[in-house]
Amino acid sequence: MANSKTNGRARGNGKANGAAHTDRKASSNGHSNDSAQPRVQYNCLNCPGYCCSYPVISVTKYDVARLAKHFGISSEEAEKRFTKSQHGYKRILRKKKDEHYGTICRFFDQEHRRCGVYKARPHVCRAFPGGGRCGYYDFLMFERRAQDDPEFVALTDHS
Ligand code: SF4
Ligand code: SF4
Repeated sequence: MANSKTNGRARGNGKANGAAHTDRKASSNGHSNDSAQPRVQYNCLNCPGYCCSYPVISVTKYDVARLAKHFGISSEEAEKRFTKSQHGYKRILRKKKDEHYGTICRFFDQEHRRCGVYKARPHVCRAFPGGGRCGYYDFLMFERRAQDDPEFVALTDHS
C-alpha cells in the first residue's frame, strides 16, 4: 500500500473516547453496526484501521475486566499489561509499532488489519465513530480515487 500525508487527528481526542470501527467486524475491525442508527456509509473491512492508531484510547475498569477474562488473567495483571496512565487519563491502551500509522493499539491484528480482540474490545471501540459516517473513511476513499490506487493508505499526523 502506498502512503500519503495530511493533517492530524486523534481518536479519543481529549474525550476519553475514541476507538475502533464498525462492522468491519460484523466483518472485522472493531465497531458494530446497529440497525437503529443511521445508515452506515463506511466499511471498516476496507480500511487499514486508522482509528486503532489514535494516541488516546481510554478504557474503563470494566473494559479491563472484560479483557482480563478474555485472556484468563486477573484484572490487575490486565491493567498492567494492556494499559498505562498518560495524557491525563488513568488507563489508555498500550500501543505497538505500525508500518502505516507509526503506532497502533497493541491488540490490533496487523496481518488482517482488524481488531485482534473483537469480542472483548472496549466499549469505546464498539461505539466509534458513533454515526453513519466516518471522516477518515471519506478521506481514504477520496484519496484512493484521486490516486487511482484501491490500496492507498491515507495518513494524518497524530503528533
Ligand atoms: S477509521 Fe473509520 S472506517 Fe476505519 S476502521 Fe475506524 S471506524 Fe472503520
Ligand atoms: S481493542 Fe481492537 S478495536 Fe479497540 S483500538 Fe484495539 S485493536 Fe482497535
